[in-house]
Amino acid sequence: MPHLPHTLTGNVHVPAPINQAARDFAPGSDEALTLRKEIEKVAGEVRTLAHVIGGQRIESTDTTPIVSPHDHHHVLGHIPTVTDADIDAAIDAALAARPAWSSTPWFARVSIFLRAAELVTGKYRDELLATTMLGQSKTFHQAEIDVNELADFLRYNASLAEELYSAQPPRSTAGEVNYLDHKGLEGFVVAITPFNFTAIAGNLPATQALTGNVVVWKPSEKSALSSDVVMRLFEEAGVPAGVINMLHGSGEQVTTRAIAHRSFAGLSFTGSTTVFRHIWKSVANNIENYRSYPRIVGETGGKNAIVAHPTADVDAVFTALIRGTFEFQGQKCSAASRAYIPRSIWTLIENRLATTVATLPVGDPTDHATYVGAVIDEAALRRLQDAFDKASATPGHTILAGGTSHSETGWFVDPTVVVTEDPTSFVMQKEFFGPMLAVHVYEDDDWSATLDHVDGTSEYALTCSIFSTDREAITEALDVLRDAAGMTYINDKPTGATMGRQQFGGGRGSGTNDKTGSVLALQRWVNSRFVKETFAPATDWTYPYMGR
Ligand code: NAD
Repeated sequence: MPHLPHTLTGNVHVPAPINQAARDFAPGSDEALTLRKEIEKVAGEVRTLAHVIGGQRIESTDTTPIVSPHDHHHVLGHIPTVTDADIDAAIDAALAARPAWSSTPWFARVSIFLRAAELVTGKYRDELLATTMLGQSKTFHQAEIDVNELADFLRYNASLAEELYSAQPPRSTAGEVNYLDHKGLEGFVVAITPFNFTAIAGNLPATQALTGNVVVWKPSEKSALSSDVVMRLFEEAGVPAGVINMLHGSGEQVTTRAIAHRSFAGLSFTGSTTVFRHIWKSVANNIENYRSYPRIVGETGGKNAIVAHPTADVDAVFTALIRGTFEFQGQKCSAASRAYIPRSIWTLIENRLATTVATLPVGDPTDHATYVGAVIDEAALRRLQDAFDKASATPGHTILAGGTSHSETGWFVDPTVVVTEDPTSFVMQKEFFGPMLAVHVYEDDDWSATLDHVDGTSEYALTCSIFSTDREAITEALDVLRDAAGMTYINDKPTGATMGRQQFGGGRGSGTNDKTGSVLALQRWVNSRFVKETFAPATDWTYPYMGR
């Protein structure tokens, strides 16, 4: 890789970031009409995706089809399978790019990603939206907030990078100077990304590269179409060849080979808890072989609760249950999937919940009327249908709405509410990652015991919503649920964290809680060197107390 010019002198300030405003996409609006043309274009193509290694596009004759979840007979493209030689080539390309990239001034790196943000909201906006809608089955609104979030990540992280690099020791004392050289990790890092957010897919490798690292990125095979667009816009923005290398195909194959390498320096993973634990164990088993201790960052599953106190605003609880559970088919890590409702409120909302959930529009997300698209693949549909069937067959469980699925055209799972008498039931514990809400109705006097159930029932600690108008009840819930969620919402739904406002991450089985949206998330990718320079070094080794 050629050296980028290092001629910048001066402490440059990054532009103040602002959140990209979401457009409405009302039927017939300019933005909807333009996007519809792009949807038709993408839908009419069969794209051949390639690995991107050292700036070269590597195709394969051995491929897997990409289909649309809501129309699984519709092939949108093909991804290449990955070979060990591809993985080795990606690692070699990353390591070759490291010397120049890690010594590129931080502002030059930041500028590349700020340009990428402009490409996200400019030239590539409609293509990102169309590939996200067709490939991941997102509605106009869900795709728009996802793509906007990618621009937000890039812009806010640029600003956080300035904060990171400004972090220096206090003013040095006379005769010496002290400073921190915030360099990237020694070796290469790996980004393994999930299917559910185009924004997360782009953010993980971008954050690592922004902080001076060289990356092997393995996007989800279930969102390859939009990840391919993200990679192309990174290249167009000026990310040098070899800095981010994208490999499609098996996550297990890429990860197993990459983490066996002596120069493996870190992993940024977002996905399921089981996979993350498996990778962590493999890294631990290889610990003697590494040059450095690898940094392991993981954001994983959730079993997010909405807990209502008898004083809660009934309409606010109802709206949070619908929006928090069913948007994007419940396939947000932060989606509500268990609710604890007091009897007095349940009698007011039970029928309304049954009717509304049963009539939520399910279908093709490119149809404006759709609220719920298809789940990502057949395995997801089977997992949810199995849970509905098990709940139906388990005493003390009632299917209030839904409980069915349809797989002829797409992987459609009907929005479902399961009411359980058992606050520790499997439906209150396990992540099913789909349009399914488990409800436990508690007696109004049992608030404190209910909070203990919220805290103790699931292994996860990602998001949680508390609804109440009683300050004492809110305070008690905040105390009891302190470790139960990395993100706690009071009188709001548990989804929709926004860059620059909420800092996202969860603890326990939900992740290493490194708070995307804060400088902490960038900090994990630097390996700082401390430098002390003395201007008039000591020249006498003795001390006065020695009397010499
Ligand atoms: P997943 O774990 O199936 O896949 C995630 C990535 O890991 C993909 O790129 C996949 O190819 C790869 N992978 C799969 N098996 C692997 C293995 N054995 N070794 C190495 N890599 C492997 O998850 P998903 O279905 O893409 O995403 C859904 C999950 O992600 C849910 O559990 C959700 O809660 C979680 N998620 C969490 C957050 C968060 O911020 N906490 C955000 C988004 C998604």
